[in-house]
Amino acid sequence: MDRIVVVGGSLAGVNAAEALREHGFNGELTLVSAEESLPYDRPPLSKQMLLEDMAPEKLLLKPTDWYEQNGVTVALANPARRLDSATQRVVLADDSELEYDGLVLATGSSVRELSVAHGDPRLHVLHSMEDAVRLRAEFAPGKHLVLVGGGFIGLEVAAAARAQGLDVTVIARGPAPLSRVFVGDVGQWYQGLHERNGVDVRCGSALEAIEWGVDGAVVTLKNGNVIKADIVVAGVGSTPAVEWLANSGIELSNGVACTPDLKTSLPNVVAAGDIVNWRNPIFGEQMRVEHWTNAVDQGRHAASTLLGNRDPFASVPYFWTDQFDTKMRFVGRTTGADQTNIETMTDDKLVATFGRDGVLIGAVCIGSPRQLAKYKVAIQNRTPWDEAVEASLTAAR
Ligand SMILES: Cc1cc2nc3c(=O)[nH]c(=O)nc-3n(C[C@H](O)[C@H](O)[C@H](O)COP(=O)(O)OP(=O)(O)OC[C@H]3O[C@@H](n4cnc5c(N)ncnc54)[C@H](O)[C@@H]3O)c2cc1C
Repeated sequence: MDRIVVVGGSLAGVNAAEALREHGFNGELTLVSAEESLPYDRPPLSKQMLLEDMAPEKLLLKPTDWYEQNGVTVALANPARRLDSATQRVVLADDSELEYDGLVLATGSSVRELSVAHGDPRLHVLHSMEDAVRLRAEFAPGKHLVLVGGGFIGLEVAAAARAQGLDVTVIARGPAPLSRVFVGDVGQWYQGLHERNGVDVRCGSALEAIEWGVDGAVVTLKNGNVIKADIVVAGVGSTPAVEWLANSGIELSNGVACTPDLKTSLPNVVAAGDIVNWRNPIFGEQMRVEHWTNAVDQGRHAASTLLGNRDPFASVPYFWTDQFDTKMRFVGRTTGADQTNIETMTDDKLVATFGRDGVLIGAVCIGSPRQLAKYKVAIQNRTPWDEAVEASLTAAR
C-alpha cells in the first residue's frame, strides 16, 4: 500500500493518520478537510469557548508543524465531493483527484436542520469553531437566549449562557431534557439542575415557528406560548455526513455500514468516528456512537485494519458532559434498557445503572468519578443485572 487518503480532518481522521505512521506506514498520506482550520477539538466549543475568551488556536488537536514532521499532506477547505470506487479516486471540490490504495472515511456528523427555520443565518447551531465564535460574540448579560432542543450540547450551551448572565429558556420536546438518551430520573435531575440555576426549562414543548424582526426573534410553540428572544440556538442532534458518498456504491445505513473490524463494503476502504455504524461485539448490537473517545479509538483501529489487523472493534462507549459545576460521566448504552437502578440521587450526586435482557449495559455517574471504572469492567464482562444491582447495594451499605 503506497497511498492512503483520509477524508475528514477532525478527531477520527487525525488519530487514523497518527496511528498509520505509528504502525509503520511510510507511503504518501493525505488528510482531506472541509474546514479552513487545521483539525481541532469540538468538546470545548460548547464549554470553555463559550465561558471564557479562549483563543481558537488552543483547540488544535496537533501543533501546526506536526503534519509536516509526520509527512501528512493536508488539503484544507477542499471537501471531498465524490468517491469513485472503481478507479479508487476521491474527487475534491476543486475538481482535483486523489488516487488511493487505502482510504479512511472520517467525515463525522453534521448538525440536523430545524425545519421551521431551514438555512436562516440568524439561527445559531454549534458544530464548528466558527459556530462557537459567532455565538460567543452575541453573548451579553441580560440578553434572552432560547435554545431549541434538550440534548447534551444544547444543555451545555444553556449552562454556559446562564453563567454569562443571559436569561435562558430551553424548549425540549420530550417529557424531560435528554429524553432521547435516558428515560425518567436522569433527565429530570438535569431539569432540576438547570432550574436551580435559573434556566426556564419547558418540556413537552414543540416548536411552531420562529419569526425575526428588527429587535430579535419571536418563538412560537405549538401550545400557543410565545417567547421573545435575542438569540435562538438549535440543538436538535446531528446526522452522519455521508451525502458525498451517495453514488459511490458503498453501503449506507444510518452512516457507513461497517464490519466489526471497521471495513466498509468497498475494497480497501475503512471508516472511523461518528460516521460508523457497526456491530459492537460486547453488546451484540448495531450502533453509531457520537462520542469523543469513540472517534479516537476507532480512528486508531481503522488504521490498523487498513494495514491488515482483523480484530473487531469492541468497546464500551464513554461520554462526558460539563454543565454548571457538574461533570457527568457515562459508560455503555441505554438503548432498549428495560431496567434502571438509581443508586444515589441528591442535588450534587447521581449514580444510576441500566440493564437490558438481564445484563448490565450502562451507568451514569455525576459527582462520583471513581465508580465509573468499576462499571465499565462490569459492562464489558456482561455482568448479570441482579448481580450488578446487588453489588451496588452492598457498596452503598
Ligand atoms: C459542540 C460539541 C461538543 C461536544 N462535546 C462532547 C463531550 O463533551 N464529550 C464527548 O464524548 N463528545 C463530545 N462531542 C462529540 C465529539 O466531539 C465527536 O464525537 C467527535 O468530534 C467525532 O469526531 P469525527 O472525527 O468522527 O467527526 P467530526 O468531529 O464531526 O469531524 C468530521 C470532519 O470531517 C469534515 N468533513 C465532513 N464532510 C467532509 C467531506 N465531504 N470532505 C472532507 N471533510 C469533510 C468535517 O468538516 C469535520 O471537520 C461534542 C461535539 C460537539 C460538536
